Amino acid sequence: MTYRAVTKVFSAASSQDGDGVDLRRAFPGTDLMELDPFLLLDHLGPTALGPGEARGFPPHPHRGFETVTYLLDGEMQHRDSWGNHGTIRPGDVQWMTAGSGLVHSELPGETLIRDGGTLHGFQLWVNLPKKDKMTSPRYQDTPSARIPVVHNPEATVTAKVISGETMGGKGVIDTRIPILFLHLTLEPGSRFEQAIPKTSNAFAYVIEGMGQFDKTEAREHQMVLFDRGGDGVQIANSGACRLSLLLLAGEPIGQPVARYGPFVMNSKEELVQAVDDYEEGRMGVLA
Ligand code: MN
Repeated sequence: MTYRAVTKVFSAASSQDGDGVDLRRAFPGTDLMELDPFLLLDHLGPTALGPGEARGFPPHPHRGFETVTYLLDGEMQHRDSWGNHGTIRPGDVQWMTAGSGLVHSELPGETLIRDGGTLHGFQLWVNLPKKDKMTSPRYQDTPSARIPVVHNPEATVTAKVISGETMGGKGVIDTRIPILFLHLTLEPGSRFEQAIPKTSNAFAYVIEGMGQFDKTEAREHQMVLFDRGGDGVQIANSGACRLSLLLLAGEPIGQPVARYGPFVMNSKEELVQAVDDYEEGRMGVLA
């Protein structure tokens, strides 16, 4: 395997969104607006919350892409304008295709609000090709128990396979375009390699620890962008503690991106239509 080199390493910017949720926004930001097909990556927390302190994302719309929520700790409940609702717990993934549009809320679970606790997770936005932007909304609520966890023979590398394939594990979530989404943990001194098609864009986000990506080192809360000059990536734990990271790769869509807040379309006209449809209640209403 030939390995991709790293083109850029940068730290996710501390920010807040929703009703006061502390997060680190890896992108979009000054270092990276988007990485086709990926539009956004937020690292929520980890935030220690006292009773009554938990915050979330009150009702807001989406159209034209997918939101992927992966929770490591805490509890989130979602409701939408088409009557869907559910709860996401540690290790669970919600892969939501917003498609033609909905209004939803993403709020802390009742236990987390009442008793406090830790909120820790991720939200990733994945773009949809033009032909799928107005598809019907769809949820793939995937409990932790359905997400394969695989190891290398030495059991020093563990992968939670959210989508795509590695080390004999295959994700159960359907994606519109090929997406690899792994949560990897590497024990000190261990290494991992993953084949990635040369046509895909790829990046890693370090949750904790210190890693060497090809020849470049990165630490917690840093984004690592890979070039396309190889047919795989090589990652080693170069620190004294466990390395935990997300590894993502996807086939670029290669179409114009027009974005305005929670709407991501191909043209300004389609954004104007999205705002109008939302304001006129055509994405439903969440009381
Ligand atoms: Mn949302």
